[in-house]
Amino acid sequence: MLFIDQPYIEKNQNKSRLVCNINIDQTEKQTIWFEVDEKYEKYLCTERSDAYIIGLLNWAMRTHHDITCKTPVSEDLLFNLNEYLIPSLIKYAPDFHDVKIHAPITNETLPNEGGVGTGLSCGIDSLHAIYKHLNCSYPSHKLTHLCINNVGAFNNCYQKYGIDHIRKERYEIAQKAAAEIGLPIITTDSNFQTTFKQNHLLTHTYSSMFAVFCMQKLWQTYFYGSSGYDFNSFTLTNHAQKDCSLYELLSLNCFSTRCLKIYSEGGAESRLEKTVMIADYNIAHQYLHVCTQQNNNCGICSKCRRTILCLDALGKLDKFSKVFDLQYYKKHKKEYLLWLYASHKNHDVMNNPTYNLLKKEITIKIKLYYYFQKLYKYMPIMITKQHIKLNLGFIKISFKHKKKK
Ligand SMILES: [Zn+2]
Repeated sequence: MLFIDQPYIEKNQNKSRLVCNINIDQTEKQTIWFEVDEKYEKYLCTERSDAYIIGLLNWAMRTHHDITCKTPVSEDLLFNLNEYLIPSLIKYAPDFHDVKIHAPITNETLPNEGGVGTGLSCGIDSLHAIYKHLNCSYPSHKLTHLCINNVGAFNNCYQKYGIDHIRKERYEIAQKAAAEIGLPIITTDSNFQTTFKQNHLLTHTYSSMFAVFCMQKLWQTYFYGSSGYDFNSFTLTNHAQKDCSLYELLSLNCFSTRCLKIYSEGGAESRLEKTVMIADYNIAHQYLHVCTQQNNNCGICSKCRRTILCLDALGKLDKFSKVFDLQYYKKHKKEYLLWLYASHKNHDVMNNPTYNLLKKEITIKIKLYYYFQKLYKYMPIMITKQHIKLNLGFIKISFKHKKKK
């Protein structure tokens, strides 16, 4: 049993923290904090247990814990979880626990500031959400705030570069970008992801919504842009082992209440269509960041490769010379095309639209080299210009040719 105590607010110099004690099986005590600048303290929600139920639901289902809360839960949320989300998840993951949530129920409206928000990670999904809703023609759907949260995204990558290092740098850049966009940015911090360790890919919807609901007295609408897939990819099959964005059409609808509506932003578009939309956006030309390795786009990791090739396929790459090393790309384009061909052969759905646009450039030589590489793994002896290589199962030996004098 997870026992979630009453959340309270604690001052920490010029910051304010929403703090909550959590007791696990009456044997282990944890304290979760979520921190904002003190000017945003008034939006921290002590009146509901919603944030903690959402944030810990997937964890509780996987570790077979029920949940008891001291503070009321919003009736809409509890109804949606009990009647729709939990039964659906159990059906397609029999190992998931049918979590029972015990909490006082309230249907009282919790007033909010009418804020409309989205995250500013500077990735394709994030920039698409901003581009679409900054000046949209629906007055109550126009963005009022941006935010950047520390609830797991940084821990998933950047281990080599340094998690604190990248976080500090990305926060600074996000603040610069927000100033140019012309919206306030709320930078938050939390120990949530280190206290309850979860696989980010499988649970990011839950941890991101934890951050949103901690500030539920600010938000009326929130656009969560996380997925490179459009709604046609919705599935619950084997969801326990897959990117949780594949069922956001269900989960975000269940997390929404009559006071706070969450959208799976960009679900009507594929990643390629989103890229087309932001390709001429000046903020994207200066701030696009997709890299999973470092603060500047490395150009080498799979996300960098995917984005460079996609921009090239659209004929927009030259506009992104500030964020990608285009000289390196042009010099090594054949290697990128080889990578694209390999991802096509591996049935990578995300890269397929780019492959279809660039396949004319994938020459017979590139294709032959792909098959040669595959074969090479199994060749017992290989002679190249520089080396003679022996491949004897576990034993691999490489000799360098003697240089001719
Ligand atoms: Zn990269």
